[in-house]
Amino acid sequence: MKFVLGLTGGIGSGKSAASDWFERRGIVVVDADVVAREIVEIGQQALLKIKETFGDWVLHEDGSLNRRALREHIFQSTEARKTLENITHPAIRQSIIQQLEQAQSPYVILVSPLLFETNQHELTNHTLLIDASEELQIHRASQRDHQTVEQIKKIIAAQMPRAQKQQLADDIVLNDGHLDHLYAHLEKLHEQYLKRAQA
Ligand code: ADP
Repeated sequence: MKFVLGLTGGIGSGKSAASDWFERRGIVVVDADVVAREIVEIGQQALLKIKETFGDWVLHEDGSLNRRALREHIFQSTEARKTLENITHPAIRQSIIQQLEQAQSPYVILVSPLLFETNQHELTNHTLLIDASEELQIHRASQRDHQTVEQIKKIIAAQMPRAQKQQLADDIVLNDGHLDHLYAHLEKLHEQYLKRAQA
């Protein structure tokens, strides 16, 4: 069995900075957010099911998913949200498992902002939390995305509280300094993961 590392952290914590570093080291990274988009691309089974369940209005004229219309719809109805998740979550999980299995590197990473929230950590052997204060999260995310502080605060509020993630994670890197500081921490962990992967 391949060693699978689950990498998580709240918005703006530095997950992408960390996963980019591992990728530069030749480690395959499967990104749950990317998979979530892939499974609703034209021609995918999940998109067909969404259309059959909700109706033609969920598609644009070219057959692609009208994300905005669907988002507004599920925003109005918890039931609709659950129905949608019953279609997408199993498809996302299946695709993640497939991509993790196919990965050709000493170990493989699953990066997900909602690793614990969606039980995706069950697909991993070990978890790493990239951690930062809420202040830093807001500062970094607002500089990156041009989102308002209010929007970022809402996203933080919808994610699992930081303290709970700290409890659940096997390793924690506090990303409160320069990027070089983050990379130095990751270097040490990478050595450990390589050893575990060989065991
Ligand atoms: P996440 O993927 O967790 O939302 P990112 O890795 O995209 O967060 O980081 C958010 C922003 O902050 C990015 O622009 C990133 O380059 C920057 N960043 C991350 N860590 C640091 C750091 N230690 N020092 C300075 N900037 C950082």
